[in-house]
Amino acid sequence: MEVLKESVQYIKGIGPKKYALLNKLGIYTIEDALYYFPRDYEIWGDIENVASLTHGLESSLIVEFKGRPEVIRTRRLNIVKWTAFDETGELKCIWYNQPYRKNLYRWNQKYFVRGKIDKRYGETQVIMPFIEEYNPQKHDNPKIFPVYPLTKGLTQKDIQNVMRGALQKINNQIYDFLPASIRKEYRLAEKNFALYNIHFPKNKTTLNEARRRLVFEEFFFINMGLKLVKMKTQDQVGGIIFDLDEETISNFIAKLPFKLTDAQMRVLNEIFIDMQSGKTMNRLIQGDVGSGKTILAAIALYCAIQSGYQGALLVPTEILAKQHFQSFDRLFLDKDIKIQCITGSLTQTVKDKARQELKDGKIDIVIGTHALLEENIEFKNLGLIVTDEQHRFGVRQRAMMSSKGENPHMLVMSATPIPRTLSLILYGDLDISIIDELPPGRKPIKTYHVPPSIRGRVYKFVRKQVGEGRQAYIVCPLIEESDKIESVAAVELFENLKNGSLKGLNIDLLHGKMNPYEKEAVMEKFASGETQVLVSTTVIEVGIDVSNATLMVIENAERFGLAQLHQLRGRVGRGKHQSYCILIANARTREIRERMKIMVDSNDGFTVAEKDLELRGPGDIFGVRQHGLPEFKIANIARDIDILKLAQQGVDQVVNMRGNPEYDMVMEYIYREFNKKTSEIAMN
Ligand code: ADP
Ligand code: MG
Repeated sequence: MEVLKESVQYIKGIGPKKYALLNKLGIYTIEDALYYFPRDYEIWGDIENVASLTHGLESSLIVEFKGRPEVIRTRRLNIVKWTAFDETGELKCIWYNQPYRKNLYRWNQKYFVRGKIDKRYGETQVIMPFIEEYNPQKHDNPKIFPVYPLTKGLTQKDIQNVMRGALQKINNQIYDFLPASIRKEYRLAEKNFALYNIHFPKNKTTLNEARRRLVFEEFFFINMGLKLVKMKTQDQVGGIIFDLDEETISNFIAKLPFKLTDAQMRVLNEIFIDMQSGKTMNRLIQGDVGSGKTILAAIALYCAIQSGYQGALLVPTEILAKQHFQSFDRLFLDKDIKIQCITGSLTQTVKDKARQELKDGKIDIVIGTHALLEENIEFKNLGLIVTDEQHRFGVRQRAMMSSKGENPHMLVMSATPIPRTLSLILYGDLDISIIDELPPGRKPIKTYHVPPSIRGRVYKFVRKQVGEGRQAYIVCPLIEESDKIESVAAVELFENLKNGSLKGLNIDLLHGKMNPYEKEAVMEKFASGETQVLVSTTVIEVGIDVSNATLMVIENAERFGLAQLHQLRGRVGRGKHQSYCILIANARTREIRERMKIMVDSNDGFTVAEKDLELRGPGDIFGVRQHGLPEFKIANIARDIDILKLAQQGVDQVVNMRGNPEYDMVMEYIYREFNKKTSEIAMN
């Protein structure tokens, strides 16, 4: 619908200034406006009478004024106090520093009054009420008003005006992509009705109907979009069939320095089945930090090479690429397998050479960062793509990588613990395997929450651990000192510790602004055990695997999301020694204390994630956007689980409607819009 793309600046009353302010809220077009939903509603309840008012509650009344107002002047205040009444009693209306009020109201005129009721000194008062002439049409029905998130310079009235204008423009003509049969079955409101009533609900019922419909629509849209991606890959006949030689693979597994856990074996079998099914594998491996995903990636890549294909391992950071490179190098030491690392920091000459070899098929396994996605990286015969730490790569990146081969198999590994309900959304296009077991002998990490005041004791503990031959991480959230945010700066903390509390220890620094070579050197020294304490920003968050490190100290822990804290904590507890995680956090608020308690009480990523979700709803850490999916504008995954389930059911139903004209229309719409939305996200 063309009008949806029209600019809001053509709405009456919107000048360039207001337009710029609306832009700040992300509102440019009519469509943006319609999908800018109220954050809350103010409900003007039924009209009450004075005798039945309750202290402390917002109430609405119809009153008249009598006599003259009392005006009281103190040094600072001008108080106007005017007695109003209805047939049941008297109400004192009080205004501070609004002297004009004393002439504003007339006798024998009914007024609508609304405000918080205050019962004191034997009087019933309302302070600074909202007041306007009584208009039966307007005031006799309870009213609901939208309350929008604002920006400075805009008022609720302004935004309401925009919404009215936008709704007028669409004039109930928006295309409803949900088939009528689905709407009927799930008792969903029609789209135009829903948009109208989410902004200007007639009453609570229409508001609920509108909200329910829009939440369903959001879930349905994402789910169907992902389903389409999945169907597209499944429909392709001729997924690569790997020629797996059981003996070779068993031998390889038998020679590993450890025995695979049952969970690892189970997941591995699922992978083997996929690889021989004739369909393209699209599988997510979810496993908590430290559950041993890397080795599965290695075995899968080995299978690809055994079958004569090339494999690629896509990782989010340069440090991780290097680490995987080294461990693969050791793993395939006695094999004739060429492994190459491709990252942004390679010199042009090295990169060119690697590119050529990749294209010629001389390289078997390539491990790289986003640099691998570049258009000029080509393969001879790419058979398997593994992405590690999937939460850094979205739907789009996967598709980009995939287009470098002919339907290569895809394995996606994620440690970001995600409640199951949510993973159904984020990974609707993937089959899911879960490693629900840690390698044996791991001792649960002991987690403590301490106030900043006893930081000195924490450093003593660092010394003690180092004294026993172990290593420690100290993580701080920011690189540079900022006045506004009182985070401890890594550089400064490092200097302080080096010359103070941790003087004499081998202490080093790692942060995002260092160049890749510096980073690599620092990581190498830490991995080799030479560095005893590593002060770092969150660059170590994902993947790093140094099993002698047993202590993780996190400064300003309250600034991190729980999933992130769990990831960081997962850097320790990787070996046979008892590990510790110390969260230094100022417990200013109850919320902080609760969040820290969740960390202290649970070592399990899924539990942490569920609790986090309950506590604050899906926040940034589970940011749908990070996964390359559109953000939810109205749905709340924690609260709207029931609607989510219905929407998923609805999606399955529609998928089975193939052949029906409604089917084609939904598919066409979702295919187009979903692609548009995900590519917009990929671009910024
Ligand atoms: P993550 O799942 O967090 O990526 P890693 O793959 O880095 O975990 O594995 C964590 C550590 O556990 C590594 O040092 C790895 O060598 C080791 N490991 C993996 N599988 C096993 C196993 N079955 N038994 C013992 N150690 C294992
Ligand atoms: Mg890993």
